[in-house]
Amino acid sequence: MSKYNRRTFMLRLVAGGSALALSRLSLAEEAKKAVLTEDDAYAKSMGFRLDTTQVDQAKYPKHTAEQKCSECQLFSGGPGEPLGPCSFFGKRLVPVDGWCRNFKPKGAA
Ligand code: SF4
Repeated sequence: MSKYNRRTFMLRLVAGGSALALSRLSLAEEAKKAVLTEDDAYAKSMGFRLDTTQVDQAKYPKHTAEQKCSECQLFSGGPGEPLGPCSFFGKRLVPVDGWCRNFKPKGAA
């Protein structure tokens, strides 16, 4: 390999590595944004909780402990996955044990 070719190769290698690192960073940022939090204003208005056992029973008297995201029609997480997309919240990720007042049991019309 000539000196020029080696230099070109090294520059391309560094540029490629930097691009890869940047794309990984942006993917990580996107993933963080994709997870729904209890602080999200819309989630708050829907009474969203990461853990169904933490739902305010006085405020949501129809809530039961069996109601959780994994049992909701709008949840499309895979088996064994701790999080899954919720179509009600624009495919943002919610935990299997989460809950919001838009809960729709699977199989219900
Ligand atoms: S709509 Fe269903 S899956 Fe989505 S947050 Fe509410 S209970 Fe969970």
